[in-house]
Amino acid sequence: MTRVTRADLDSIPTYVPGRSSPRAIKLASNESTQGPLPGVAQAIADAAATANRYPDNTSAALVRALSESLNVPSENIATGCGSVGLCQELVQIACKDGDEVIYAWRSFEAYPVVTKVAGATPIPVPLTAEHRHDLDAMLAAITDRTRLIFVCTPNNPTGTALGSEELERFLNAVPANIVVALDEAYFEYNRSGVDGIELARTRPNVVVLRTFSKAYGLAGIRVGYAVADPAIITALAKVHTTFSVNAVAQAAAIACLSARDELLQRTHGVVAERDRVRDALLAAGYDVPVTEANFVWLPLRDRSGAYGQASADAGVLIRPYGADGVRVTIGDPHENDAFLAFATSQAALQL
Ligand code: PMP
Repeated sequence: MTRVTRADLDSIPTYVPGRSSPRAIKLASNESTQGPLPGVAQAIADAAATANRYPDNTSAALVRALSESLNVPSENIATGCGSVGLCQELVQIACKDGDEVIYAWRSFEAYPVVTKVAGATPIPVPLTAEHRHDLDAMLAAITDRTRLIFVCTPNNPTGTALGSEELERFLNAVPANIVVALDEAYFEYNRSGVDGIELARTRPNVVVLRTFSKAYGLAGIRVGYAVADPAIITALAKVHTTFSVNAVAQAAAIACLSARDELLQRTHGVVAERDRVRDALLAAGYDVPVTEANFVWLPLRDRSGAYGQASADAGVLIRPYGADGVRVTIGDPHENDAFLAFATSQAALQL
């Protein structure tokens, strides 16, 4: 048969989301366990009632609400179809064929995919033995083809977060013509006090990505945002898939910002559970890096696949990553207890 699509797509993996099953406890996708607040659900219903109309392609009302909430001018804010949509758009604004994109590995699985789809070349830089970004190695990987660097903090899937000093030193060392994307999808769970938006205010090449999918509980609605210099925001508008931030998503996100304090309050419970789960795993003899996200990382190496399957068989879906480790989302206390019951069982400890 005559080929009709790009041959290089064959070597690009299709994104595989975390598993789901109605009977199992799902700790595989870093979602919030709590549904939308009544006011958010109402905003979703109201927006759905006028779904015959196209959305505002500039998300103007949401951008205004973000501007107020973040204390950042509107011209510094763009919205996207999830922050993953913005990752894709960033590669498109920064790279042409063969340009290089640096990111730590392991990190968010979409980085290599969006890079290759855009025809750019992925340059993964291994994490340190402590499962942290190796910022010096990332700097050393810069060439004259480097156009974009993704820095994920807290890092998915290891949960490790960068300190402000090391991050500032890194940002100061990156040449000003390279875009640095600080992916802060888990910002609201990070108690280290580092705020990428403050770092981006004085650095025109730094763009911060955040999302309503995690702490704000809108993973199924698809809306994220970028904060950056207006030149980056203007470029993002050029490549933006028209109308991809839909009207329901815009209304839901605005309603979340109105209830921001109540939603952020929920993160305190997640952080407390995160510490409880980590302590219990450490006590059982696991190596668990300090995490600033809503998940923990168990670097189980070649046991990861079997461990993930055994946990699923025990009714708890977690996320194995090749021969590196497994990531376990923090859920409600009874869900975390179910995972801990598995993790501390002889069956799991002997795997
Ligand atoms: N960045 C990171 C680090 C993530 O873990 C995720 C979700 N898994 C995203 C971005 C994308 O999130 P969303 O598209 O739902 O905003």
